[in-house]
Amino acid sequence: MNNDVNATWPKLPVALKKIAIDPTSDDYELMCSNYFVTGRPKLILRATTERDVIASIQYVKKIRESVSHSIPFSFRSGGHGISMASVNDGGIILDISQLNSVTVTDAEQGLVQVQAGAVWGDVAEALRPFNLIISSGDFGDTGVGGLATGGGIGLLVRRLGLTIDHIVSARLVTADGEIRVTDHQKYPDLFWGIRGGNSQLGMVTAFTFKASKLVEEKSDISLPFTVQTIESQTSNLTKFIQQWQSWITHASSKMSSNLMLTAENRNTVHINASNFWAGSINSDAKALFKSALSLSEVNKHQLETKSYAELVKAPHIPHSGQQPVFVKNILLDAMNPNIGDIITSIFKASATMITNS
Ligand SMILES: Cc1cc2nc3c(=O)[nH]c(=O)nc-3n(C[C@H](O)[C@H](O)[C@H](O)COP(=O)(O)OP(=O)(O)OC[C@H]3O[C@@H](n4cnc5c(N)ncnc54)[C@H](O)[C@@H]3O)c2cc1C
Repeated sequence: MNNDVNATWPKLPVALKKIAIDPTSDDYELMCSNYFVTGRPKLILRATTERDVIASIQYVKKIRESVSHSIPFSFRSGGHGISMASVNDGGIILDISQLNSVTVTDAEQGLVQVQAGAVWGDVAEALRPFNLIISSGDFGDTGVGGLATGGGIGLLVRRLGLTIDHIVSARLVTADGEIRVTDHQKYPDLFWGIRGGNSQLGMVTAFTFKASKLVEEKSDISLPFTVQTIESQTSNLTKFIQQWQSWITHASSKMSSNLMLTAENRNTVHINASNFWAGSINSDAKALFKSALSLSEVNKHQLETKSYAELVKAPHIPHSGQQPVFVKNILLDAMNPNIGDIITSIFKASATMITNS
């Protein structure tokens, strides 16, 4: 790399040279994107230790004190952030994907230390032998750092709540370059803030989670999920969404459901539904799966059994800004009978795909 990253910035400390990547480095093109966009940062710092994170934040602080304009500075863990804020143009990216260990510290209590650069598929795989689960997202390549500082809505959200509900403590490096260990007792405001505030308060390097032990009743096997996938269509989205909302609201919290809606033409919406039952099939599950088939005109459906780790397996796909789409999230805190009409109007205003869960 070029030693003189930017003539107006203070000299790069020796400790950071070994982790620094600039536009002249071989790895630059591999490291400058996230899932949605490709950035053109001046410098990427690929931390391999918590000390690297501290040194990086101290360096950025020094730059900001020495130049008059603002320098974009992004944190990147899994690079799947919908805000797309984990890359930038002209600034610095601090990447912690190498800080990715998962350690079960107390299997009985379900205590697990997870470095923030891990991805959720790998967390699920590491916890599988212990019959432990941390409810996270539904895609294995999403990162712990972004999701566990943002919220975390996954396949077990109806049963276990959000991912942030399971954080016991966190280690973070704040803007002054200090490491702080925070929990309900230590720096409680900071602890509150990082559970939803993403990067606003510092970079989390590791979390301790209390994982859940989900085993089949009276047996000691890791909980399988029964998954129903349905391909169907409807010409009356409002009615379908109302019926689906009523179906999932009245279902046991062992059931969760994701819908992917695609506008096929002006009158027809194509529906891909994935319904997840946290357990092997029983009479309750059978009844729910059967009633799910009556909600729309079904073309194809199937039932499979999979472990949680198989469901959220991480494919580890390198980033190249491969999904150049605009994503917008909204959270409804109550059933809304008009949501089908609202979605129809969004489709008419040119959206191509909408997911509900
Ligand atoms: C295909 C796909 C599927 C998804 N599925 C789900 C899902 O099922 N459930 C769900 O809840 N979300 C889901 N998401 C959203 C995703 O989990 C969040 O956007 C999350 O922020 C991604 O985390 P990341 O570490 O991969 O992202 P990054 O792009 O690395 O970071 C995202 C944001 O978090 C900040 N950040 C990253 N690491 C840290 C850290 N260590 N400390 C402090 N701040 C940090 C960054 O600054 C950035 O603002 C999905 C996203 C995609 C692209």
